[in-house]
Amino acid sequence: MLAVQRVLQSGRFILGEEGQGFEAEYAAHLGGGHVTGVATGTDAIELLLRALDIRSNQAVVLPALAPSAVAAAVRRAGARIVLCDVEEDTLTLCPRALAEQLKGADGIRAVLAVHLYGHPCDWTALEEVCEAHGVFLIEDASQAHGAVWRQKKVGTLGKASVWSFYPTKNLGALGDAGAIWTSEPALAEKLRCLREYGWVKRQISDVPGGINSRLDEIHAAMLRVKLPELARHNERRKKLASKYTEALQNVRPPVVREGCVHAFHQFVVCSGQRDAMLQHLRRHGVPAAVHYPAALHQQAAFACEETFPMAERAVREVLSLPMHPYLSDAAIEAVIRIMEDFQA
Ligand SMILES: *Cc1c(COP(=O)(O)O)cnc(C)c1O
Repeated sequence: MLAVQRVLQSGRFILGEEGQGFEAEYAAHLGGGHVTGVATGTDAIELLLRALDIRSNQAVVLPALAPSAVAAAVRRAGARIVLCDVEEDTLTLCPRALAEQLKGADGIRAVLAVHLYGHPCDWTALEEVCEAHGVFLIEDASQAHGAVWRQKKVGTLGKASVWSFYPTKNLGALGDAGAIWTSEPALAEKLRCLREYGWVKRQISDVPGGINSRLDEIHAAMLRVKLPELARHNERRKKLASKYTEALQNVRPPVVREGCVHAFHQFVVCSGQRDAMLQHLRRHGVPAAVHYPAALHQQAAFACEETFPMAERAVREVLSLPMHPYLSDAAIEAVIRIMEDFQA
């Protein structure tokens, strides 16, 4: 409340001290680099692709299992979408499938690797494939605030990453908010122009492709309050995840790759009886969910001719159990008991 009051009293609601403060604090949290606050995670993707000069006849690779936001953003940036299958165990972008796609398709400029559910992608392998083909590898860390890949914070593995601070994310604002992180000052400078009509100086649009996508002061102020709590919240998520993993016998629990810290944005199990299990949970008042009910190519807006067997299997089998830092021991034990009662 104090943070909100501070904004109200400042009389400045867009691109003021709170926004700058958050950008600096988030960059420091990530261990350096430059953070540009924008209005949404979807905008962050669009703006980064624009800043990288990805043109309309060029393509961006996306994992077939991902929130629709990523595909909508690539479309808005004007680029083509090329989909790629995911790994069987982690459900993140599969380096082998990616190598095949990059061999076969023309005009691919970038790969957007999503750290799905908060679990890091196989970064080293993906990087190797992308380097061999000369394409940008960028991270979508919108579900992975606080996740770690081999001692390095996710979101700083490459030269740029995108973030959403949608309220339910591990780090969430009071409404829509997003950011782009980059290690390159020139790219950060360009993003600052693009988020505000392409302005280089006030009222002077010299950078083409600018839009209006700014981080509001009130959201930035709230993010500054919540950032110091991220580590503690993620610890709680991790503890809840181990409780689930130890207790649940009738599902495949999420895999955690060696050397990785999972942010457990979602706790996603797999089961061949997913639909019946979901019904059972809902009947008992458990707010379980499915991320995602359809792969991107199975949605009319992003349909393509190819099939992606792992993503297709995942959408039939994935089940997200309640997971948030305020979930009590009693509440998770109740969910576990209801899961144990499930009869196929
Ligand atoms: C939430 C999310 C987005 C979209 O973010 P918005 O802030 O809702 O626009 C993009 N990518 C991933 C992986 C997300 O989880």
